[in-house]
Amino acid sequence: MPKIDSKKIKKLFPIFSKKENKNLVYLDNAATTQRPKVVIDAIKDFYETHNSNIHRGIYDLSEKATNMYEGTRLHVSKFINAKSSEEIIFTKNTTESINLLAYTLSDNMLQKGDRVITTALEHHANFVPWQTMAKKKGFILSVVPVKEDYTLNMEEFEKLIKEPNVKLVCVSAMSNVTGTIPDIKKIIKRAHEVGALVMVDGAQSIAHEHTDVQKMDCDFFVFSSHKMFGPFGVGVLYGKKQLLEKLPPFLYGGDMIKSVKETCTLFNDTPWKFEAGTPSVADVVAFKKAMEFIDELGIENIKKYEMSLAKKAVEMLKKHKQVKIIKPKNLELSGPVISFVIEEIHPHDIAEVFNKEGIAIRAGHHCNQPLMASLGIPATARISFSIYNTEDDIKRVDIALKKLFKLFKK
Ligand code: PMP
Repeated sequence: MPKIDSKKIKKLFPIFSKKENKNLVYLDNAATTQRPKVVIDAIKDFYETHNSNIHRGIYDLSEKATNMYEGTRLHVSKFINAKSSEEIIFTKNTTESINLLAYTLSDNMLQKGDRVITTALEHHANFVPWQTMAKKKGFILSVVPVKEDYTLNMEEFEKLIKEPNVKLVCVSAMSNVTGTIPDIKKIIKRAHEVGALVMVDGAQSIAHEHTDVQKMDCDFFVFSSHKMFGPFGVGVLYGKKQLLEKLPPFLYGGDMIKSVKETCTLFNDTPWKFEAGTPSVADVVAFKKAMEFIDELGIENIKKYEMSLAKKAVEMLKKHKQVKIIKPKNLELSGPVISFVIEEIHPHDIAEVFNKEGIAIRAGHHCNQPLMASLGIPATARISFSIYNTEDDIKRVDIALKKLFKLFKK
């Protein structure tokens, strides 16, 4: 049995002990997780004890704040097994990390006529920037379709990767709609064989799967702190150092320079040349506590526990013949995210009825309209698990579904 004691863990998250949330079943973890007290306390502690701006002050308070901020960078590099902390850039979120790459790669590594491959599984954050840059700069954007079983169509990928001038592949390590985990190792191997770079969107995988960027051999990896128990406002872009060094800055201003003359500017080294202006210091500092929290529980324990819940939830959903599950049948090929649809009941109505029962789920296109179009559906209802969810939560969903069917006479 997995080593996670979810009832005990739930007590570490203050939101669940608030009077107004007594009845709350939180199943929207793919949108954002809840925060444990250690993370919330770390934000408070920073403002109460260490608050000052970083990298600039020649006084103890600022030096301490700088060390704390850079300490998180070091911690991130260890968390994902980067070669060094210089390969870690702090951004605002996954979206900003991908935009940073889209703009800077388009500036000096991608040429007109080059091909960029993305997939139908991608969140808009990993689609719209590439589509926009393709239009602006004349790249050819190809999209790997999904199969009927909601896995990536690797035969089509194989065809696309053989096209001339493929320079970049942008793929998610876990879909936020179907939970699908593509064969990232194979994708990276094939891309490198044709000389293309690979950017992996780890926004969904980071809290559920062990990440080792060296083993994976991806060129870039992006994720958000808020999906792994950390604060809002902190994103990460990992890049191989030799590649980051070749990229131009994304934003210009203070903190990203070595020297400025009236006629020219010498930019700072990587990663600081990508971090213009004052960052979200307290949030970055507290983010370290979120990674420590995951490490204490053990990512493999987390994964086992969440997948055992996902399995039980799928079994429960299958008992309702009205429900169509939008997720690979083989649970090994996906994470703890379950989308479903019910004929003639709009996902918004499902979410509304669930809300009345105290259950928070997500309903809509999940920022993935191309996938919805290829599946021929406008939206899904989505349940996504984390470590504080319990089997009782699944029972509550079962009850809510029964009420929904009664209401809609299904
Ligand atoms: N990619 C994936 C797979 C996601 O699930 C999300 C968030 N739902 C994003 C990117 C964007 O993350 P953020 O909103 O933190 O920028």
